[in-house]
Amino acid sequence: MLHGLRLPQRLLLPIVKCQTITWGRRSLAKDAILPTVLVHGGAGHIDADKVECVKFGVKQAAQRGYKAMLETGSTLDAVEQAVMVLEADIHFNAGFGSVLTQDGNVEMDASIMDGSRLEGGCVTMARNIMHPISLARCVMEKTNYRFLAGDGAMRLAKEEGFEILPKSALITEASQKLLKVFKISNTDTLYNVVPGTVGAVAIDACGNVAAATSTGGLTGKLSGRVGDSPILGAGTYADNEAGAVSATGHGESIMRYNLSSRVLALVRHKDYSIQEAVEEMLQNMTAHFKQTGGLIAIDHRGQLGIYFTTELMSWAYQQGNELHCGVEVGEDEVVIVDDDT
Ligand code: ASP
Repeated sequence: MLHGLRLPQRLLLPIVKCQTITWGRRSLAKDAILPTVLVHGGAGHIDADKVECVKFGVKQAAQRGYKAMLETGSTLDAVEQAVMVLEADIHFNAGFGSVLTQDGNVEMDASIMDGSRLEGGCVTMARNIMHPISLARCVMEKTNYRFLAGDGAMRLAKEEGFEILPKSALITEASQKLLKVFKISNTDTLYNVVPGTVGAVAIDACGNVAAATSTGGLTGKLSGRVGDSPILGAGTYADNEAGAVSATGHGESIMRYNLSSRVLALVRHKDYSIQEAVEEMLQNMTAHFKQTGGLIAIDHRGQLGIYFTTELMSWAYQQGNELHCGVEVGEDEVVIVDDDT
């Protein structure tokens, strides 16, 4: 049986009533949506001695994102802030802690999407910055384009005042060790051994959704390789009419399957629940390409989908004062957090 979990019925938490909002394509009358921020820290294997650090990281990220949403009312802020926490955490393959190319360098991919406007921003081959997710947002907000690569992306980073770090600043002992292992083992699937791509999805009480994904990619990748994470529809997608998705796993498979878009198409056009959709699409992708992955998703009603066909995937979400997290199949640890955390 493939790995996944069934989420428990959620407790009744305070519900914010929304006005009918009229935006663009249709009028949305939504209520009873519980604002939620859900994050993942990558699908694959997690060493037993790292599990607690990884859980701590994803919980911190979900809390930070949730707090940002309360403070600014923006789901885009929520997913950006959540991902930034994980980009700064050495236990994840994004920002600091990114895995290395064959040449021993860091080349990062990221994308962010605002489901209320179908707006998005993407970067690939970002170097020497801690927060590629914020650069992706800059592409969306500060340029007429939606995807910048390499030198062009770095020029924007400089113009927008991003701190440009010394070349070695993002390279860790762990990523160097992993590259050595990769070179000896000569495989292209080391994401299964050490996961850590990060992502977040969020919904507010009015049904506005957003998604973000950030990664160092695959250990030992050729310089210039672009994965699924910066590609809208593959690694990331958000649309208020369906929901928001962030993917992790084998990028070459996820992009060919257009995984995130397919999940939301099932919700929008076939009346699937979001959990059914993430399960079916990931199972199909895994069967077709013999490559594994993981998904987190929120549909336009605020229901959650969490699923992976790898051994483990770290995830966490905050909804009201409940903070949930897990890494194993069926695991769902819950703690109650203070209002002011
Ligand atoms: N999807 C990422 C990539 O292929 C890797 C991962 O999620 O672990 O770049």
